[in-house]
Amino acid sequence: MGDDIQLGRLAGFPLRVNWSVLVVLWLFTWSLAGHTLPVDAPGHPTATYWLAGLAGAVVFLGSILTHELAHALVARRSGVEVKGLTLWMFGGIASFGSEAKTPRDDFRIAAAGPATSLILAAVFAGVAIGLDAFGVAHIVVGVAWWLAGINLLLGLFNLLPGAPLDGGRVLRAYLWHRHGDVTRAALGATRAGRVLAFGLIALGLVEFLAGYGLGGLWMVFIGWFLLTAARAEEAQVLTRQALAGIRVADVMSTDPHTGPGWLTVDAFIERYVLGDRHSAYPVEGPDGGIDGLITLAQLRAVPSVERATTRVRDVAIPLADVPTATPDQPLTGLLEHLSPDTGGRALIFDDGRLVGIITPTDIARTIDIRGFDVLPSAGHRH
Ligand SMILES: [Zn+2]
Repeated sequence: MGDDIQLGRLAGFPLRVNWSVLVVLWLFTWSLAGHTLPVDAPGHPTATYWLAGLAGAVVFLGSILTHELAHALVARRSGVEVKGLTLWMFGGIASFGSEAKTPRDDFRIAAAGPATSLILAAVFAGVAIGLDAFGVAHIVVGVAWWLAGINLLLGLFNLLPGAPLDGGRVLRAYLWHRHGDVTRAALGATRAGRVLAFGLIALGLVEFLAGYGLGGLWMVFIGWFLLTAARAEEAQVLTRQALAGIRVADVMSTDPHTGPGWLTVDAFIERYVLGDRHSAYPVEGPDGGIDGLITLAQLRAVPSVERATTRVRDVAIPLADVPTATPDQPLTGLLEHLSPDTGGRALIFDDGRLVGIITPTDIARTIDIRGFDVLPSAGHRH
């Protein structure tokens, strides 16, 4: 998502927060401060409820992050590339750069998150009982019980058996293990996800119409989101299936036009880009070898007044950041490494010699694998 704010790293994984997380932070704070806590522990000033509510909501966001971290740690141990963790309106996302290699790994990565949420639920319940025994104020005990309940709900809800929920991944791992066909298993899990999503939308609508308010509406939103995600995942699986057996050499454009990096942007545009139909050029270094990639978008981004003094190599993407492959490699393996930073392009080398380029027009779409975790509820039911 474009509006993500990078918040550094957690256990080595890039941690991003989308501004939309403020929506859930507000909803949970409001639900705690306005409804749950005043009922649990009456008699405090309003400000105390809001402070306790905010503290509870922040700790819950930390709980979601712990859930995502569990997925990521198990994935890393199983040799799956983890791109990062994100918090947003509907909960958490663990983004992966590759898939699990066995059903067993697939199951472990999926189950780690809900298992962590269930453990957190038990821990918060223990804390609540302990605090209560020591005579700590009811409002603090109330927050601990709420955290126990919401983590339990988070763990159980995400175990519902439909992709892209964790339960859908568990289902995929089971079908994969049973039939030995990962594509068929993934399709089964996305279809289950669609059915599940329609069920949630219907249930949410009934709740909403029956006067349960925000809780029902939230479920409709979640159902709609899951439906979109399940459909996207199904399309990816089908694309991948269609691409199976295709090699890089089958789709690449051969003999790409290259240009020297020491030219200024002005000269490069005049000599290489004008009258040409390509949208990206491998950049030659001083020794004639390829040491980067320049796109039209990058050339255009250089302000006109600086084009006569800026050299192409200074704005080009260094080769180390450009996905590369050999012609005989399977295309699906390369797809996982394509990135928006290079506009989905990759350079193809044979024995160290540039032989081709792959652009987004060469392939239908890139593969983007994400594990979504969805908040069971973010609104109080009246
Ligand atoms: Zn999860």
